[in-house]
Amino acid sequence: MVKKIELAGKKYFECPICGLDYEEEEWAEKCEAWCSKYPSCNLETVKHSVGIMGQLEKKEPAK
Ligand SMILES: [Zn+2]
Repeated sequence: MVKKIELAGKKYFECPICGLDYEEEEWAEKCEAWCSKYPSCNLETVKHSVGIMGQLEKKEPAK
């Protein structure tokens, strides 16, 4: 399941497998579907990612 996270007032959707975050849920779902089938990321999908916001959040909360 794609994880919804909120960071600095913005919502992101996170692929639970590779941890990449997307502004659009659709891309996060595509990423998750790809990651569960293949051991590597789909570069076409990764282009739409905003990075690993969820992991940044864990390190230092943006508040
Ligand atoms: Zn992924």
